[in-house]
Amino acid sequence: MEPTESLFRDIVEISPFPVYVCTGNNMIISVANNATLKAWDRDASVIGKPFFEALPELEDQPFLGYLQGVYRTGKPFHSDAERADLLVGGKMQTFYYKFTYQPMFDAEGKVYGVAAFNTDVTELERARQAVEESEMTLYNLVRQAPVGICIIRAEDLMIEVVNDSYLKLVGKRRKDMENHSIWEAIPEAAQLYAPIMNNVISSGVAFSAREHEVFLIRNGEPEIVFIDFVYEPVLHFDGTINTIMIIAIEVTDKVVARRNIEDVEERGRLAIEAAEIGTFDLDMNTDTLVTSDRFNSIFGFTTAVSRKKLAGTFHVEDQELRIRAHEAALKSGYLFYEARVIHPDDSVHWIRSQAKVYYDNDDKPKRMLGTVLDITEFKRLQQQKDDFISVASHELKTPMTSLKASIQILDKLIKNNSNPEKVSVFIEKANTSLTKMHHLIESLLNVSKITAGQLALNKTHFKADEMISESCDHILLNGDHSLELTGDTDVELFADRSKIEQVVINLVNNAIKYAPLSYKIIIDVRRQRRSVKISVQDFGEGIAYDKIPHLFERYYRVDSTGLQYSGLGLGLYISAEIIERHNGKIGVNSEAGKGSTFWFTLPVS
Ligand code: ADP
Repeated sequence: MEPTESLFRDIVEISPFPVYVCTGNNMIISVANNATLKAWDRDASVIGKPFFEALPELEDQPFLGYLQGVYRTGKPFHSDAERADLLVGGKMQTFYYKFTYQPMFDAEGKVYGVAAFNTDVTELERARQAVEESEMTLYNLVRQAPVGICIIRAEDLMIEVVNDSYLKLVGKRRKDMENHSIWEAIPEAAQLYAPIMNNVISSGVAFSAREHEVFLIRNGEPEIVFIDFVYEPVLHFDGTINTIMIIAIEVTDKVVARRNIEDVEERGRLAIEAAEIGTFDLDMNTDTLVTSDRFNSIFGFTTAVSRKKLAGTFHVEDQELRIRAHEAALKSGYLFYEARVIHPDDSVHWIRSQAKVYYDNDDKPKRMLGTVLDITEFKRLQQQKDDFISVASHELKTPMTSLKASIQILDKLIKNNSNPEKVSVFIEKANTSLTKMHHLIESLLNVSKITAGQLALNKTHFKADEMISESCDHILLNGDHSLELTGDTDVELFADRSKIEQVVINLVNNAIKYAPLSYKIIIDVRRQRRSVKISVQDFGEGIAYDKIPHLFERYYRVDSTGLQYSGLGLGLYISAEIIERHNGKIGVNSEAGKGSTFWFTLPVS
């Protein structure tokens, strides 16, 4: 052996990389260094054996084929990371090798063997595979994630990865997103969100939003949706931001559902507020009561008070009624009563309490939820209506009684055929009673027409003085009063004549009724710039100034007892309605003790 040859052998021997040489057609292993034997987990006895005998487990693997190929063709063969399954430590194990098979030529240039130089890259390959796998897992994760994910290159905002959920969320096609810049793909969101994304890129601080109301064109349709999302900057190893990850999830259904609930609650709350309903919640096991502010104020308190204290506020006459109502509620499941409560300032208020009882599984009442309403005004109106009915009946009864009397007398006079001149007197009396009844009924009918909004006007042209004298003639016929007509009496009016007559009659009748001791009544007609003003002045007792604002209210009477003067409290109310319907004004100037001037105006065209 030449010294150089042994030198080479030594080099091969000490090489940490497996090196071996196969020669001849049978690929006899003629050289195999220690590293090779270690890799194969064989001993030196394999040297001199054919390759397939030394490594029978490689039978179905391509290595012998590669070696033979090189031997045959004389061309080297390279492999980057080839898998080799070897019997090591008594079991088959997988390794990866990077190798070069080099042909060896003899002096005549003929291949006599193949030298194999190998590097074990198992670990490297495993690491690479692990990275690949984790990348794959990540990618699959992104693809299949139920949340929308879009990964964008920071430098030009190009979309690198976008998953199906994201495409669905923004309503775009994959081909319109991938390899487009994000704002090219979703231009409708650019104005609002481009500055935010730029800020994330420049600051490196993530941006997260909850329930953002976003306008999107999804599948060609404009839509408003609600989205929770994050712009997450992803740092490159050198600390720069090279990627932005958008994670987004649509929460429209949730927001809409919640808003609906809020809406219903709000409406309920508003309804309760508008109706000024006080509410309470009574725990019937512990007798604890929770009340709303309105509830407290209905009972005259500024804060919640004990149930005992509340019970004490009821009017003595209504306390029993309240207790009975609560007893009945336990059985019927429903509480209802109306009662008076006395506020700390001694004022009396009517309340209506309504509640529902809830029972536990043993049918034991456990809870009462209810409302209270201040019905003082309602009760006042009810009272007013009751009073009115009794007044109206009384008012009708008076002329009816006298009518009945007149007819009885007439009956006698005619039967007895006596005193024929008296007949006409009583006919006249009967007539007067009938007229009074007619007026009363007319007033009542007018009121119901007004409240139903059915007071229709039938306008004509007529002279003021004619209308006034016609309406007053029969009023003044047999009285002690004298009427003076002054001013622009011949002025022409355009109005509903019979309704205006009714107003004049009301005013003149009042002047007679409320100024019985003063005889003069002045009716003044005055032409003004755009209207005609008609005033009826008496010199009676006048009206206290604090009563004046109420005179034209329905049912209002200064002397509400009706002891001194009879009346329904409707004349001025009806008059005001008639004048208002004509777009005119009505009012009074009065001073107690000096008399009153009631006036009204009618516009002239
Ligand atoms: P009625 O006369 O039926 O009570 P009105 O509506 O005509 O109803 O009048 C309302 C109230 O206005 C009367 O009850 C009376 O107190 C007061 N009033 C009306 N006219 C006069 C008047 N000329 N002088 C004093 N008080 C009057």
